[in-house]
Amino acid sequence: MTANIHRLAAIKDVQAYEAPATFFDIAEETGSVFGENVFSLSVMKKRLPKSVFKSVAATIQKGDALDPAVADVVASAMKDWAMEKGVTHYAHVFYPLTGLTAEKHDSFMEPVGDGTAIWEFQGKTLIQGEPDASSFPNGGIRATFEARGYTGWDVQSPAYILENPNGNTLCIPTIFVSMTGEALDHKTPLLRSQKAMADQATRVLELFGHKDVDNVVSFCGPEQEYFLVDSSFVNLRPDLLNAGRTLFGAKPPKGQEFDDHYFGAIPDRVLAFMHDTERALFKLGIPAKTRHNEVAPGQFEIAPVFERSNIASDHQQMLMSIFRSVAKQHGMECLFHEKPFAGVNGSGKHVNFSFGNNTQGNLLLPGENPHDNAQFLVFCAAIIRAVHLHGGLLRLSVASAGNDHRLGANEAPPAIISIFLGDQLADVFDQIAKGGATSSKQKGILNVGVDTLPDLTKDAGDRNRTSPFAFTGNRFEFRAAGSNQTVAAPMVIINTIMAEALEFCANELEAAVTDGTDFNAAVQHLLAKIVENHGAVIFNGNGYSEEWHAEAETRGLKNLRTTVDSLPEYLIPESRELFSKYGVFNEAELESRFEVGVEQYVMTLVVEANLTAEIAQTTILPAAIRFQTELAQNVSALKAAGVEADNADLLAVSALVADLRAGLAGLKVAVAGAHEHAGIAEATYLRDSVIPAMAAVRAAADALEDVVADDLWALPTYQEMLYIL
Ligand code: ADP
Ligand code: MG
Repeated sequence: MTANIHRLAAIKDVQAYEAPATFFDIAEETGSVFGENVFSLSVMKKRLPKSVFKSVAATIQKGDALDPAVADVVASAMKDWAMEKGVTHYAHVFYPLTGLTAEKHDSFMEPVGDGTAIWEFQGKTLIQGEPDASSFPNGGIRATFEARGYTGWDVQSPAYILENPNGNTLCIPTIFVSMTGEALDHKTPLLRSQKAMADQATRVLELFGHKDVDNVVSFCGPEQEYFLVDSSFVNLRPDLLNAGRTLFGAKPPKGQEFDDHYFGAIPDRVLAFMHDTERALFKLGIPAKTRHNEVAPGQFEIAPVFERSNIASDHQQMLMSIFRSVAKQHGMECLFHEKPFAGVNGSGKHVNFSFGNNTQGNLLLPGENPHDNAQFLVFCAAIIRAVHLHGGLLRLSVASAGNDHRLGANEAPPAIISIFLGDQLADVFDQIAKGGATSSKQKGILNVGVDTLPDLTKDAGDRNRTSPFAFTGNRFEFRAAGSNQTVAAPMVIINTIMAEALEFCANELEAAVTDGTDFNAAVQHLLAKIVENHGAVIFNGNGYSEEWHAEAETRGLKNLRTTVDSLPEYLIPESRELFSKYGVFNEAELESRFEVGVEQYVMTLVVEANLTAEIAQTTILPAAIRFQTELAQNVSALKAAGVEADNADLLAVSALVADLRAGLAGLKVAVAGAHEHAGIAEATYLRDSVIPAMAAVRAAADALEDVVADDLWALPTYQEMLYIL
């Protein structure tokens, strides 16, 4: 191969890679590993006095307020347990609005003044911490001189131990708030919204005659997609290192068109990585279950089993950190960016969710005959209402510069939020709209034409990959979330809009019953009313088609194409009213989320634009010019020798070099212009002026990649990054 020497060295490194033998330690039995590093209910039961355990368990399971008196006892038991496992430090872990994970470590060691120290962990340190909040985004909630922020123990999410060769840390999941109590994180509104939803769901369940309704919670099972790329290549790509995605790269001769990667055999090296990540996840009680190749080359997926949404959300953040660090141990980078490679499928995070409790179970379970399952139909109708009224907020909850590359790009659902119910449920709701549902389409038997196989059952409806919001048998799947984001953001919205819709249902049913209407008739009336008013959001067709965009518009559904279009949804009157009614965000918090959203978008784009300019100027243009010079020397040497010279290549390369220079000049002007704007206006400017300017630079650079001599090209190619592992 005649590739550039740096790329060649990288390829050699990849080929020489050998997985350390310990990566396949199958002697360690999974059963004993699961939850080993978690201060779980069962650990607490063993280590806490009975009365203290009962009190903490009530908080965890029923959502009762924590009795501060028990904190000292819990803290001391936690410390003993942790120190037995080699822990010296503890950390309050929280999820600031950057979408990342933050932790501040403190030692258990307390000096006692006579030159010695004791190991101590008090209840008050367990319950509350005070990290300096000034370096976390807050959207103007506090000026930096009022930098106090507080972390507060989230009792429902278990403490755990993070292992590190240099010492283990006890991690305590917390919320993160300002001195005035405003949320500076994703966890706080998630807990608030969960409560709001639970209150209204309980009312509905009581109307259906249930007594002693247990605490209703939302469950979430995220499917996480990611890419693995060898670190030797990533280290030669400043764009991947600094922006998490490639800003350049010509389409490889072989893309994903063969569909030969999806569910294909997992490469040994990746399997070793998966094995290790899973062991790390198991230790932390994270139920990693499904793993497989994804559609794009180099792309994979992991799906843990669903859990309560606040725990699922913590686990999801932990999963991403673990994946990043284990990948590094295996000489790879784990990319969570939504679109690391242009022209190849991006990565999403499907948010599967449902609602339920211990007494009624999963409230989205239709049973064999959904048309007869009034309670299920009410919950389902509530979702229809919620999504129809607040599709804009759902769209907003997945808005980011990275996800803008995916949504609506015919690989991910469109930015228009509609609901797919599947054949069976769509038919039931059709019947309801026409006066009443009397039957449900049934599951079929699948005839595969092989006598020796047992009958396979066929679901009552097919799937629809183009729908952003789909019913999938016992849950809904919100498919628009980006791979890099926290699931807390969409779950906050889902809980809150469900609180509103369930309250509406409870009010209607209560009023009807008070008026003496028969309960069943009231339910039928409610369902019909919801279908009539909100059925416009149901769409079972192809979400990728042009016609759908036109039709969605006539149906009055929002099409918020980009993050910039979505962010103002925080501030529209409907949102302000909704969030304040259910106590999920106050006005200041909404303004702050809007500001932070704008800030994150602007920072991302400015970094990308500067990187584009730098890489084009210092890496791509020099390679192109060297090649151009070589061609020019060739032409003049041939001419001097009296041989007829073909200068077509020289002209072609020269034209592209001119394009690249023009593109760079345009990008510099565009970037400089950003300073004339601020806030959402700057974000809008970047979207409308800087993104196209970056695209022009990339177009010239990618065209050059296809013609410049390979030994001059320094950036690892798509072919190398995607296919060599
Ligand atoms: P598929 O490929 O069919 O979408 P996967 O098995 O890859 O399914 O992932 C489905 C995800 O949905 C898993 O995380 C799973 O635990 C989750 N899930 C299953 N049932 C529920 C439910 N009732 N509520 C929430 N999530 C669920
Ligand atoms: Mg899936």
